[in-house]
Amino acid sequence: MASDSFSSVALSKAQIANLESLGYKKMTPIQAQSLPLLLKGKDVIAKAKTGSGKTAAFGLALLNSINPRFFGVQALVLCPTRELADQVAKEIRRLARATANIKLVTLCGGKPFGPQVGSLEHGAHIVVGTPGRVQDHLRKSTLNLSGLKVLVLDEADRMLDMGFIEVMNDIINQTPKDRQTLLFSATYPDGIEKMSRSIQRKPVMVTVESEHKPAIIEQLFYEAKKHQRNNTLLALFEHYQPATTVVFCHTKKQCDEVADFLRDNRIDALAIHGDLDQRERDQVLVRFANNSCSVLVATDVAARGLDIKSLHAVINYELPRDPEIYVHRIGRTGRAGEKGIALSIFTPSEQVRVNAIADYQKKPSICDVPESLDRDSGFSLQANMVTIQLDAGRKSKIRPGDILGALTGDAGLAGSQIGKIDIFELSSYVAIERTALREAMNYLSQGKVKGRSIRVRKIR
Ligand code: ADP
Ligand code: MG
Repeated sequence: MASDSFSSVALSKAQIANLESLGYKKMTPIQAQSLPLLLKGKDVIAKAKTGSGKTAAFGLALLNSINPRFFGVQALVLCPTRELADQVAKEIRRLARATANIKLVTLCGGKPFGPQVGSLEHGAHIVVGTPGRVQDHLRKSTLNLSGLKVLVLDEADRMLDMGFIEVMNDIINQTPKDRQTLLFSATYPDGIEKMSRSIQRKPVMVTVESEHKPAIIEQLFYEAKKHQRNNTLLALFEHYQPATTVVFCHTKKQCDEVADFLRDNRIDALAIHGDLDQRERDQVLVRFANNSCSVLVATDVAARGLDIKSLHAVINYELPRDPEIYVHRIGRTGRAGEKGIALSIFTPSEQVRVNAIADYQKKPSICDVPESLDRDSGFSLQANMVTIQLDAGRKSKIRPGDILGALTGDAGLAGSQIGKIDIFELSSYVAIERTALREAMNYLSQGKVKGRSIRVRKIR
């Protein structure tokens, strides 16, 4: 039997059938390496890049440890953000279909407390949450972890970066000492090693090296004085004119400033970071995915877990200190065999970071790119689509066909002028070609969709 088949590890027949129904034909490399250890109850540090299937690895392990007849929290997964917690919860729920009566509760900030308390009172076997909110529930004694068997720190490196260390330690101190502790991470900075030593017992480390193909990511470094960063950034956009780009910044404030600066210079850019509420995040992602915006300015944390398809360019507005984070960032471009470009701006004092990156990748002449960039004053990078928001969504039973029908029927737009349609619970978003915007707005604000008049606005 091939060692990457799920049936080669100690999973139930029902689970193997379930995995088959999910289309999981064989284990991913990180699953093949970690599952045998995880199912034996070992403490594990697993390091593999985003998208390698880490969730199913720990998800299968924790489901295996749960006794459905015992009504207490037996597994806790801590995640850095609500978005990631929701993704993890979704994946574990799918895996839990193979086991009867498993209850999972998500505990994240930004959601009302009451319903969470209610769900916990009904008995939860698994809790997936963000550190702050989990700690809140422990403080209020609405959550009890004395029966915990498995603790998972997912994206542990991010949680450390976000300053959750004390909160995590406080939570861990309220769990039994004989628990199984699993650390999942895309990078392995010093902080993780230290953390592992204080919370894990005889941990086994499992690593799957990332399969970035540096050959098809062109990496270029541009030196700029500190006050020239913005101008260099503009020059890079003008020179390369990438169709889709993520610009990485260190702080939320910097993201906002850079996005504002780009917009002031006729480049359609939006900032995405942890200060946005869920609706704002949704809007930004919808607009990026439907081509109403070609540039996202993001923090590392915000870019994590975003399902961004192959980007034409990644730009480092500032270089990270950790070369691994750099490699991780640039891995978002040049996917699926397409050539990508990674452009980095550095100041003279950041030369050490460039050297560290070159050493790490064993590329001696990596920053050897003295190139003059042409500037063209009439340049703009405007998206050809704009997004209209409709104040009606799934709850009012709106379907993409209704919107498409209204716009191409009565409003008289061509199908080709309408782009992606995204339906959310209470609102929907439609991408419209900029040139057809006025017609679409005129019709939608006066006419009807599914026989109802609906409020519409262009989002900006
Ligand atoms: P990570 O946490 O490592 O970033 P995820 O756990 O989010 O990655 O998995 C990435 C994607 O791969 C998900 O859509 C998941 O459903 C899918 N996936 C996981 N394991 C398998 C598998 N064995 N076969 C096929 N797809 C898988
Ligand atoms: Mg993950």
